[in-house]
Amino acid sequence: MKKILVVATFNPHKLREIRAILPPLPLTLKALSDFPGAVPAEEDGATLEANAVEKALAAARFTGLWALADDTGLEVDALGGGPGVRSARYAGEKASAAENNARLLSALGGVPREKRLARFACVVALASPSGGVKVSRGALEGRITDGSRGANGFGYDPLFEVDGGPGTLAEFPEEEKNSVSHRALALKGLLPELLRLAA
Ligand code: IMP
Repeated sequence: MKKILVVATFNPHKLREIRAILPPLPLTLKALSDFPGAVPAEEDGATLEANAVEKALAAARFTGLWALADDTGLEVDALGGGPGVRSARYAGEKASAAENNARLLSALGGVPREKRLARFACVVALASPSGGVKVSRGALEGRITDGSRGANGFGYDPLFEVDGGPGTLAEFPEEEKNSVSHRALALKGLLPELLRLAA
């Protein structure tokens, strides 16, 4: 029987990307949101790593299964690396992606193209039911556009132009985002552990 790996997320876009990024492994991926009574973690850590580790450990504790978590932040040079770990709440506690994106465009109003450098930083954590944890990071360099472009992806994707790429991440076909993304790069570092888990 395939082992279950819990993906510690309530975000269907993330689950879909993680499923597409991972090679076919004899693991059944289940979202934490599929477990009755599960609640999203607070995500109040000072770093992406602290949040990813907390989310993975909490999901492993709750389910008694191995759990994988991802925490991502958009780091904009002209904003001193912000919104970073606060990316989800940039425009307020329960801000929508549209509200966060609008705030980002307004914060960068008047900043010229060459000063709009940014990166998506992603930390993934894999936690065992006994409390062990392993982390890996990935980053994707680019710049913030001056308007929203594209309908794929999620979050800040329509405002993020990939270095050397054909457009914003939201203009990339899904498979292309998943082959270059911060999330793909971070997950690569956990592949040896995932292979061992699946064996
Ligand atoms: P979290 O990792 O779910 O806490 O996400 C932090 C913030 O970054 C949220 O506003 C997400 O919508 C956004 N985000 C996370 N991953 C991505 C991505 O791959 N592309 C664009 N935005 C993302």
